[in-house]
Amino acid sequence: TRNTEEKDLVIIGGGVAGYVAAIKAGQEGMSVACIEKRGTLGGTCLNVGCIPSKSLLNNSHLYHTILHDTKNRGIEVGDVKLNLANFMKAKDSSVTGLTKGVEFLLKKNGAEYIKGAGSFVNENEIRVALNDGGETTIKGKNFLIATGSEATPFPGLEIDEKRVITSTGAIALEKVPESMLVIGGGIIGLEMASVWSRLGTKVTVVEFLGQIGGPGMDTEIAKATQKLFKKQGLEFKLNTKVLSGDTSGDKVKLNVDATKGGKEETLEAEVVLTAIGRRPYTAGLGLENIGLELDERGRVIIDSEYRTKIPHIRCVGDATFGPMLAHKAEEEAVAVVEYIKKGYGHVNYGCIPSVMYTYPEVAWVGQSEQDLKSQNIPYNVGTFPFSANSRAKTNLDTDGMVKMLADPETDRLLGIHIIGPNAGEMIAEGTLAMEYGASSEDIARTCHAHPTLAEAFKEAAMATHSKAIHF
Ligand code: FAD
Ligand code: NAD
Repeated sequence: TRNTEEKDLVIIGGGVAGYVAAIKAGQEGMSVACIEKRGTLGGTCLNVGCIPSKSLLNNSHLYHTILHDTKNRGIEVGDVKLNLANFMKAKDSSVTGLTKGVEFLLKKNGAEYIKGAGSFVNENEIRVALNDGGETTIKGKNFLIATGSEATPFPGLEIDEKRVITSTGAIALEKVPESMLVIGGGIIGLEMASVWSRLGTKVTVVEFLGQIGGPGMDTEIAKATQKLFKKQGLEFKLNTKVLSGDTSGDKVKLNVDATKGGKEETLEAEVVLTAIGRRPYTAGLGLENIGLELDERGRVIIDSEYRTKIPHIRCVGDATFGPMLAHKAEEEAVAVVEYIKKGYGHVNYGCIPSVMYTYPEVAWVGQSEQDLKSQNIPYNVGTFPFSANSRAKTNLDTDGMVKMLADPETDRLLGIHIIGPNAGEMIAEGTLAMEYGASSEDIARTCHAHPTLAEAFKEAAMATHSKAIHF
């Protein structure tokens, strides 16, 4: 039987936002309960998002490398075969290990984990429909809505997760499709297109905008990335809007229209992946019972301290404003608990890195060149190509570049953009630099080990205010 005393904090949702807040609250000595209906903790990210997709990206890259990139390295391999069932098992074991690990961490920090669907009865009480049957109620001094997001459906195309799939179907296909159409060339579209293309699927990405990568990616970097993806066999239809779909035949059909001076046409494939964005998920939460309103995009409205209009009910993560990223949710989860416990907390929204885990990786932090231009902010730009970096050369991995943008007067960094091997790890240095208000000269005068890819980072900084040595 549960301890039914009122909690200091009741969290609805055990995703990255919810479970991190639960651990932090436990560490702060608060009594805390976290309600999650999925059956496992970790939310979208651990169960069907970040973690399983990265397993598939890593292992499909290995497979593709072994198939196509060993000869020039002096390695001869025999018969290379994909075992898709075991490939998926490797993914599942990463997921299970991590979700179980999170459950252990909640226990270790004294946070109660309630398996069920939570719904507000009133401003002070939640009813939970328990996964095992029956229900319980729980009272709290504070509440945190951390219910996350779901894939935005494409109107008129019914998702069956077999032929018409979201990312959830895309990480669990039972056979390699012969062809795939991807609606949306954002991060999900490109990561999943990469996985299946490497395993042998003919993939075409249809994107409404004139560039790939979704919002935030620097246009120069997006163009360079698209070129590399084309070499890998991906096909693109940019400036093309999917109008409707038809699943009645053997193949799934999409009617598309060029947004700029083109004509309507019909595309078809064995599988269609819809990756047109995600929307906040608050269904069944009983917000109507407490009079909480959502904005026009379904986001829970909050102030700068994550409070809804009912001050002891707060919201963080994908369910509210800001980029839908796990590390953003995690930062907010820590900050919101600090606000509740201490009255202050902090997240620097100008300094949240983005990483696309394709090959090569694309990573950035701060503003893009087009962002700066559109605001008439002057900038210096410095670039350095990996083709001039010794480690990239020894690795036979020279595609890509580092690009830095800095204030011409103060040299303070405004944005950093990387396409290349290990960009996702390298951006941590850029994020730290920007968080500390570094100039490009600060980075350029910091000794970087040789031979490392990070030297390209240093040399791009040199090129931003002065000149690179090796290019
Ligand atoms: P969620 O993770 O969605 O968690 C919310 C949880 O609340 C869910 O488990 C849900 O079951 C539960 N819930 C909802 N309503 C109730 C209720 N009434 N009662 C009980 N429980 C409820 N981000 C990155 O930073 N890096 C990546 O590499 C990355 N890859 C991704 C790949 C894919 C395919 C997808 C789909 C997303 C990816 N993301 C990535 C985004 C990331 O998953 C989200 O930003 C993150 O999960 C948001 O965390 P959250 O806790 O706000 O929400
Ligand atoms: P997104 O917003 O990044 O991209 C969606 C794309 O679909 C946009 O480029 C949009 O122009 C296009 N689009 C919309 N309607 C269209 C139509 N009718 N026809 C053609 N194109 C259309 O969304 P996403 O890729 O679905 O990702 C959802 C969220 O998940 C994002 O916030 C993303 O940051 C997050 N995520 C992050 C990672 C990561 O950090 N590596 C990985 C996966 C997902």
